[in-house]
Amino acid sequence: MVNKTASLKNPCFYSYWTTALENSVNAPPEAPKRKPVVICVDDEPAVLESLRIELRRALGDECLIETAEDGEDALALMSELQEEDHEIALVLSDYIMPNIKGDELLARMHQMSPNTLKIMLTGQANLEAVGNALKLAKLYRYMAKPWTPEDLKVTALEAVHSYLQDRKLDEQNYRLQLLNEQLRQANTELERVVNQQAAIIAARTAELQTANQELMHLSVTDPLTELPNRRHFDAYLRQEWLAAIRDRQPLSLILIDVDCFKAYNDHYGHHAGDLCLQQVAQVLRQGVQRPRDFVARYGGEEFVMILPNTDLGGAELVARQVQQALQDRCIVHEHSSASHCLTLSFGVTSVIPVGVDSPLELFNAADKALYDAKRQGRNRIVVNSISKSPTVPC
Ligand code: GH3
Ligand code: MG
Ligand code: MG
Repeated sequence: MVNKTASLKNPCFYSYWTTALENSVNAPPEAPKRKPVVICVDDEPAVLESLRIELRRALGDECLIETAEDGEDALALMSELQEEDHEIALVLSDYIMPNIKGDELLARMHQMSPNTLKIMLTGQANLEAVGNALKLAKLYRYMAKPWTPEDLKVTALEAVHSYLQDRKLDEQNYRLQLLNEQLRQANTELERVVNQQAAIIAARTAELQTANQELMHLSVTDPLTELPNRRHFDAYLRQEWLAAIRDRQPLSLILIDVDCFKAYNDHYGHHAGDLCLQQVAQVLRQGVQRPRDFVARYGGEEFVMILPNTDLGGAELVARQVQQALQDRCIVHEHSSASHCLTLSFGVTSVIPVGVDSPLELFNAADKALYDAKRQGRNRIVVNSISKSPTVPC
């Protein structure tokens, strides 16, 4: 049974149990550590014995006190203790001894156990030996012989306390490094997961963007002809209308309607009618050249062209080229009142818009021209200037 009050004052006891407690909390359980050892070396048995008694009194039962009568003995003892995994906290060595002197012994012991604190006991003040030991053995302190028991007690206590404190710091440092390494690894893993997630999110985002673009394209495209649909036409007309106001440039619009298409469907079938509309779309698409020219399927067998920066004459020319191109294809339509091939009627109009005008006026003017073209017998181009110039039948 350990005396509580005495044990708490004793550094060896304190470190021994706090380390055990920390181990139980922070580290996996391991075998209890052995007691730290203090080695005394002196060739005079009486001195050695007195050292042992005084140190035991100073350090209590919690440190082992070992003795050696010469340097060889001390080195063998140290290596034996190390093999048995003892911590050697302190060595007190005489200076004048046969074979190995104190400074050399402490230097060799320092090589074997650099953390062990070393105290040299010297009878005659030998500065050179103390200097050697300071340099080669990192001498903790030297004590002049004869020492007083109080001086030895204080010095030994301080040394053991300092040794244990250093070990504790080493251990805490080691644990911090361990923790640091674990944190670094956790961080690396976290970064990997975050990067992986970011890559997944980027891939999904790209998929979504593609799907959205596809949807956007579908929402403004006519599925039969692949031309822009009416919704797209409305938006594009608004956009070019504003641009024309800004640039004070003419904006032309052509409404195009397939002639006698009901009769075509009735005689050649709906599927043939669809193929026919696809061919008309192709001819219209090929009929415009400039990047901002725009062709759309307005609905049914009606198509529309927007020609920015194009005056009435230019728009009429485009209409005429389309009319000719379709005629060159000669899609046979034996039940048309206009020709034996499929024909189109065109309503052409143009304006240099100002703020008070509206694109609807342009559309209505083109619609009226188209109506006139139908009325005048189909397969023709009617031009209707928005400035109320007279309708020119073809
Ligand atoms: P008009 O010369 O006066 O324009 O006479 P029309 O027969 O061309 O005009 P009408 O409006 O009487 O008939 C248009 C026809 O176009 C009727 C409709 O079935 C056909 N049509 C509209 N959309 C499509 C389509 O997507 N495919 C097919 N095959 N036919 C369509
Ligand atoms: Mg029609
Ligand atoms: Mg028609």
